[in-house]
Amino acid sequence: MRVHIFLLLLLALHACQKTEVPSSNKSKTSPPKVLLIGIDGCRPDALKLANTPNLDNLISVGAFNPQAQTCARTVSGPSWMSILTGVWPETHGVLDNSFEGYVGKPASHFLTRIEEFNPSYRTASITEWAPLSNLARPGADFVAAPKSTTEVANLAISELRANQPNVMFLHFDEVDHAGHSAGYGTNIPNYIQAIEHVDSEIGRVLDAMENLDDWLILATTDHGGTGTSHGKDIPLHRTVFLLASGNYKGGPKRWRRYAEVVDIVPTIFRHLKIPLKPEWNLTGVSLGMSGPNRPQPYTKSFIQTFDNSEASIEMVPINDGDYYLSKTEIPWEIFDLFFLRSSKEIEADGISGPSKSVFPVDRGYGHDGYPALGMTFNSAQHFCEWLSKETGREYRLPTEWEWMAGAKGARNGWSKSNSDGRPHPSGKLPAERNGLFDIVGNLAEWATDSSGKGVVCGGSFQDATISPQSRDRYDRSWQARDPQWPKSSWWMSDCGWVGIRVLCGSP
Ligand SMILES: [Zn+2]
Ligand SMILES: [Zn+2]
Repeated sequence: MRVHIFLLLLLALHACQKTEVPSSNKSKTSPPKVLLIGIDGCRPDALKLANTPNLDNLISVGAFNPQAQTCARTVSGPSWMSILTGVWPETHGVLDNSFEGYVGKPASHFLTRIEEFNPSYRTASITEWAPLSNLARPGADFVAAPKSTTEVANLAISELRANQPNVMFLHFDEVDHAGHSAGYGTNIPNYIQAIEHVDSEIGRVLDAMENLDDWLILATTDHGGTGTSHGKDIPLHRTVFLLASGNYKGGPKRWRRYAEVVDIVPTIFRHLKIPLKPEWNLTGVSLGMSGPNRPQPYTKSFIQTFDNSEASIEMVPINDGDYYLSKTEIPWEIFDLFFLRSSKEIEADGISGPSKSVFPVDRGYGHDGYPALGMTFNSAQHFCEWLSKETGREYRLPTEWEWMAGAKGARNGWSKSNSDGRPHPSGKLPAERNGLFDIVGNLAEWATDSSGKGVVCGGSFQDATISPQSRDRYDRSWQARDPQWPKSSWWMSDCGWVGIRVLCGSP
């Protein structure tokens, strides 16, 4: 990673000054400063891929969360308002880009609240999208809505030099423009280039800041996107990044895994020592603090997304996060990706995809939303290998004991008595207390026994008894009608009641 020459210069300067001004004295007198950077429509996975030395520098000395969540209405108006007011759309009232429902004062812009707390603070809002700056009036001392990313940076630099602002919000729109015209994704050159350009403009602003260590620097985005749009309540639209750096005291170790955009305002207010008032209805919590007011399964699970697909897997912590199991049995739409995307890798590295089945793989039970079934133990293991390669996280089948811990106390499942003799779409019965669906019943699930062999656990829709203790082992009858010789190593012609639940060691 490139060393920030400017930082080194500052360190040298700081060392020179030390003889005259004791550092403790300095920290008492210099007022706290906050820079909030907004990059519209910037997917965290694309940000990771793009060459962004300036944001990388901030991340290297701060904390970064690529799995944070914005509101379900993944368009700019509602989401930026949630970021800037610290409350969700049902409270601030902005449900689309018209801002018509905005409730006003009860959900004030954070710069307005800062001015109310201390009118002597210099606050600035410089946004490429004009409505965001309009909302900072009245209140903010300097409000501007220039027409380009470069002009946002230019204005920020002149404001820094002329007025030494305490709190500044910058909004860059170029990445979202690229998404709408060329597409959102890690494989779209124009989209990646836009992120890299915004990073270089951010670099110019950081260079103009007197001492980065005086500033709490936060960065985020309002939504992701797929194709050339956004607006849906799906992981690729809803997952955003949060970056905290500069004078950020939380430290990477204390970074909460599951953060939300409404956590930004409490983080800023904490830094400025502004007491939170109950009537503000802030539901977020300062980043780096534990989140007492958020339900546990949501705060600690994570969502596995896939490039160029809207399919996703939610992973739920077991034993307080010792490891994670997929919330549901793996559905066909994920197993289909294995089919479609693994074949080209056969020559490259020996990971091969499943051969074509001689019968309809879903057996007519149903496809999208239904758990994938009938794969061999070999096929289930190859699926996990492919999933790891595709996502960069390590996935595998659980061991029998890991599976057992996830199934502890499980009571809700499809068995002979309620299933009507067929598997059901995932998640139709209530979740168990740990958040897992269908861990017993519906499909029996592949796990690895202590000698490395496959064992299916939990019982299935056709069993009279389903329980965490139910076990079954492969025998030839599971492929009795398969006409091939040798029998398919991927599919089991006579076993349409076994499926997969995957394990991930850490997110
Ligand atoms: Zn947007
Ligand atoms: Zn947009």
